[in-house]
Amino acid sequence: MRLREKVALITGAGSGIGRESALLFASEGARVVVADVDDAAAKDTVAQIQKNGGEAVSVRADVSQAGDSERMVAEAEHRFGRLHILFNNAGIMDGRDDNAMTTDESVWERTMAINLKGVFLGCKYGIPALRRAGGGTIINTASFVAVLGAATPQLAYTASKGGVLAMTRELAVIHAREGIRVNALCPGPLRTELLMKFLNTEEKRRRRLVHIPMGRFGEAKEIAKAALFLASDDSSFMTGASLMVDGGITAAYVTPE
Ligand code: NAD
Repeated sequence: MRLREKVALITGAGSGIGRESALLFASEGARVVVADVDDAAAKDTVAQIQKNGGEAVSVRADVSQAGDSERMVAEAEHRFGRLHILFNNAGIMDGRDDNAMTTDESVWERTMAINLKGVFLGCKYGIPALRRAGGGTIINTASFVAVLGAATPQLAYTASKGGVLAMTRELAVIHAREGIRVNALCPGPLRTELLMKFLNTEEKRRRRLVHIPMGRFGEAKEIAKAALFLASDDSSFMTGASLMVDGGITAAYVTPE
């Protein structure tokens, strides 16, 4: 049990990486606050955890709203007494996100509000709670596109994830001496709702696969295992890092088919 006695708050835990992480963290002994804007999805994750004998509670929260972010943290402390692990994972990829000329300003703003401001707000309210617990760990979900130009244009998304990476480094430096570690998790392309809705033609999917040395999309479960490493004491000397879990995509220049 790598997270025994720990309390973890995971945003976007109604689906994909967030859900798999919630299930895995609970199986490692954590009590989990499952936060998602989709209340039914969050409740479903909680039901799955409880079915496996774990402890969890759901909170409906839109991470782009300060009041919701404050409430999800308050709920964690109210229900479980403390907060030790904050996983800022919720994110969107808008199907209309494209290049600079074609991306609508509203798409840019919505993407930034959820993907970037959402992480800021999670930290704004989460860090005081981690301090009250005597320290803790923050994981922010960025993406491989924070360090590489994506093959399929998604300008707002890419910029938002670059911001998450930069913010993670600075948070790590600020809070290192108080026992709060902050790391970014950078998944490669995954076979989750989010990406499959965006890469909605066979041609777009093939184009993305060409750049992945392993020649396949990753699974949310594979990212959850990396999140567990960052959440647990196994990564005790790591802070301000960007953990790439990407099937080799950032190591490659050109990949043969
Ligand atoms: P997903 O779509 O399967 O799950 C995302 C969850 O976030 C959903 O349950 C959704 O309801 C929730 N959500 C959306 N907006 C929200 C909001 N405003 N407030 C709270 N919850 C909200 O996606 P996923 O693939 O599991 O992605 C999780 C994270 O991983 C995102 O930050 C995403 O950008 C990142 N990521 C995904 C991939 C990929 O290929 N899927 C690659 C790199 C990074």
